[in-house]
Amino acid sequence: MATEETLTCDFCGHQAPAAETLSWTVSVENGRRRRYCDECSRSHLRSMEGKLDSEFW
Ligand SMILES: [Zn+2]
Repeated sequence: MATEETLTCDFCGHQAPAAETLSWTVSVENGRRRRYCDECSRSHLRSMEGKLDSEFW
């Protein structure tokens, strides 16, 4: 039996059933799992790209 799990975005606190979080970004930092919803993933990607850019220059 599969229990419907509700996951919470670690950035904005948005909650969604696990089935809807397949497109979320999951990263492991210091052994702790962090989940970011679609919107936060996008903004994170932007800031990550920004970081990469600044490292490149
Ligand atoms: Zn979020």
